[in-house]
This record gives sequence, C-alpha cells and structure tokens, in this order.
Amino acid sequence: MKCDKCGEKAVINMRQHKLALCKDDYLRWVPEQVEKAIQKYKMFSHEDKVLVAVSGGKDSLSLWDILHRLDYQADGMYIGLGIDGGVSYSAESHRLAEAFAERHGLKLLVVDVPETYSASIPELARRTHRGRGKPCSVCGLVKRHIMNQTAHEGGYSVLATGHNLDDEVAVLFSNTLHWEGSYLVRQAPVLEADQAGLSRKVKPLCRMYEREMAAYAMLGGIEYIYDECPFAKGSTSISYKEILNQLEAGHPGAKLSFYLRFLQAKEAGFFSQQADTHFAELHPCPTCGQPTTAPGACSFCRMF
Ligand code: SF4
Repeated sequence: MKCDKCGEKAVINMRQHKLALCKDDYLRWVPEQVEKAIQKYKMFSHEDKVLVAVSGGKDSLSLWDILHRLDYQADGMYIGLGIDGGVSYSAESHRLAEAFAERHGLKLLVVDVPETYSASIPELARRTHRGRGKPCSVCGLVKRHIMNQTAHEGGYSVLATGHNLDDEVAVLFSNTLHWEGSYLVRQAPVLEADQAGLSRKVKPLCRMYEREMAAYAMLGGIEYIYDECPFAKGSTSISYKEILNQLEAGHPGAKLSFYLRFLQAKEAGFFSQQADTHFAELHPCPTCGQPTTAPGACSFCRMF
C-alpha cells in the first residue's frame, strides 16, 4: 500500500479516515490533527502555561511530545502512586517520564504520594476501606486533587491529559448505558475553570484513536511503559473498549462518529437542563479550597 500524500510505502492504513500514510507523513499528520482539535475547541493558546499530566504511558508522553513540537509552553507532571506490578509499575513509569523530560530538555514536576502522604494508593484504599479491593476510586480522587493543586500553585492556566478517543468513547458508552445525565454534561474536550481552585482541563487527543497514538509513539521512538496498571485488569472500561472495537471493526469510523455526534448534540443544547442543576451544587472546601459537591470538607480532605 502506498502513502496517499507522497506515494512512498505506507506504514499505516486508517480505514476510519480512508487514509494511508508513510512514516514521515504520519509523524506530521498526528500533530496537525491535535492542533486542529486544540483550535476547534479553543483549548489554549501559545501564551498559556500548560501542565501535562504524564503517566509514562504512550498517550501522555505522545501528547507532551506533540505540544513540544507545536511550540506550546508545556511542562509535565508525574504523580508517583506507589503501585507495584510485575516490574514496579510506578518506578518504571517514573523512570520513563524522567528520561523523556531529560531527552527533550523539558521540565517535569513530580509529586510522590507515598512520600507526601505517608501511604501508597493501595495502602490508602485499604486503610479507608474504599473500592472493594480495587484502589481506583481513591486513586482518581488523589490524582484529581494533586493535579488541581499543582496546576493552581504553579500558575498553570491549563491542565492537559492524554485521554484518547477510545477512552472518551468508553466513558460515553458507559454514561449512555446508564443515562448518567450529570456525567454526560461534564464530558467534554474542555472543562472550564469556572470555580475557584479548579484548573481548566483539556483533552487534546480526544479525537485520536488509541491505535493511532500507539503508532505515533512507536514510529516517533517514544519509550513508554507497555504494561497497564495492574489494577486496570478486568475493569469495566476495558470490556466496553472491547465491545466498541468489535463495532469499529465492522463499521470503521463508528467510534469517532459516536463521539462527535455526542458533542454536536451537547452544543445544540441536548443536555442544558442537567447543566443548570449540576454546576449550582459546587462550593469551596473549607480546608483546601478546592470545589466540592459534598457538604463541608471535600472527599479528599475527609479521607485524610
Ligand atoms: Fe489508578 Fe491503576 Fe486504578 Fe488507573 S487502574 S485508577 S492508575 S489504580
């Protein structure tokens, strides 16, 4: 198969876009697509200080790489969770994030949970009896708190995460399956910082397939952690992704269309009623100042 741009040998065929590209054209095409998403959803400009949440995986490291290539002011933030896998998952992902920063001369901020809070994420989950053997809810809570705090204290106007299209579509599928109105309202490429203590959150890879990001990292020579977090095994979102992959195999472009049409429906006011009730419920936590829906202190401060 030949590259649709230059006629050289293609290394990737994207049936969803009816496009085949060679290595060089592919490595140019991906940043162009990401730039288009940044512009379309007005995520940030070259004047903004962006903090990229880096996990050591292909998506977040590729995102950092792309923002760097596109000349945005993007620093990285790595959160050490204290999670062990076959090889120590946290130690290896930390090493890869540091190596990437060093190779490109970029600034990486590191917050180590066991060091800062005297307990790893699995220990915190055990101590607080949350999550029925899985530490994911505690992990999400702690990561959200640290990301907001680090962005706020460091003067970053934007917090960027590496959620790709497959991640977004799995969440959308789950929220639609259960008709979670308030979650559907909050799902967007940009979440505005309309409450004090919250940073603006953006997902520049929201229109990029997971397979496209894996190809970008591989062809671009980005060294990333292949293993998933050991607690991700058997998760509902992975089984939703498998179902959606089957759908995509028979109907190329189905995932992208599902997501884009959802965003169009939102723009047309499909969920406006839920939006009014959802945002009215937030107030600042009296301890840390971050917005919360809980009466009194936020869930993070109550946990500690
Ligand atoms: Fe945290 Fe691992 Fe769960 Fe992801 S899968 S939320 S990294 S514990």
